Amino acid sequence: MDTKVVQIDRRNINKAMIQEAGNIIRNGGLVAFPTETVYGLGGDALNESSSGKIYAAKGRPSDNPLIVHIAEFGDLKEIAVKIPKAAEKLAKCFWPGPLTMIFEKAACVPYATTGGLDTVAVRMPSDPIARELIRESGGYIAAPSANRSGRPSPTQAKYVVEDLRGRVDMILDGGASEIGLESTIVDLSGEVPVILRPGYITEEMLVKAIGNVEMDKGLLDSDPQIKPKAPGMKYRHYAPQGSLAIVEGPKEQVTAYINEKIKEYRKEGMKTGVIAAFETAAGYQADCVKCPGKRNDESEIARHLFRILRELDDEGIQVIYAEAFDGHGVGCAIMNRLLKAAGYQVITL
Ligand code: AMP
Ligand code: MG
Repeated sequence: MDTKVVQIDRRNINKAMIQEAGNIIRNGGLVAFPTETVYGLGGDALNESSSGKIYAAKGRPSDNPLIVHIAEFGDLKEIAVKIPKAAEKLAKCFWPGPLTMIFEKAACVPYATTGGLDTVAVRMPSDPIARELIRESGGYIAAPSANRSGRPSPTQAKYVVEDLRGRVDMILDGGASEIGLESTIVDLSGEVPVILRPGYITEEMLVKAIGNVEMDKGLLDSDPQIKPKAPGMKYRHYAPQGSLAIVEGPKEQVTAYINEKIKEYRKEGMKTGVIAAFETAAGYQADCVKCPGKRNDESEIARHLFRILRELDDEGIQVIYAEAFDGHGVGCAIMNRLLKAAGYQVITL
């Protein structure tokens, strides 16, 4: 398949381009597009065959459901039933934005989109390109992150091209994603709202908006016996090609330990990399030191983390060590992604 790659400016959106992309989706094709979280791989959410194509293009297991993207709050009632009051409150606070809510699904949503579940995940993105495209495509775009399954989510179009050229009809290049981490997912289909995936909208923000919110137990634990409720969270994910381990402990000890390890691996002829905060990055002697941001600037770290995992691959780094980051607030989502990328390999000093 030929993939058309076009650049599009979110401050001056080329309408003809959006129409072309919208027609592709209406006709059952696939278009990758920018959102404020990460790039999405979009198809018509109400068309079974489109969802099938998304799974095939990503190489994604078909029990891992897709998020349906809408552009108008009023469209929610067409695809979800039993929408609780809490959803309206959350939508008022965080839509459009990086929050996904899960409801019981309406009959029009095919099981191919929900991975066989009776629930549907819905998000209203804020990126103007995404919103225009959703409207032009008929209102409901199923879109997982636009990476090959298992790879880090793409925050720039060039990584979508790398993973999906030849597998999708069109890629809209709208520049770098602002947030850089996937949406927070909250399940509203049960008695108590449950966070199934941490993200930029933090537990504290959700509690402030609706009061009672719980964190899915399967998320906090690396124990494989406790299954996460979001099917996607059980897969190894976000992983760079090199081996990655997280090192936590007192600052000086972490630096000394990582440098020692790096020395050993370099002697064996391996290419080494480190992911470190701005404050400590200069202390490492690896072939490649990547700094996502200052330790207390979580938004910056979130924005750069996936790009850095991709760049370490681009540079052929075989052994990677990462400092641990603070796990509070947005840091909870950062550590969740880093832990999954590392396959939960953590060295505690
Ligand atoms: P991605 O689109 O790559 O961000 O992945 C979507 C995430 O949403 C995956 O972790 C899915 O398992 C999760 N998800 C989507 N729909 C549902 C649902 N109905 N119930 C639980 N998790 C869901
Ligand atoms: Mg994904």
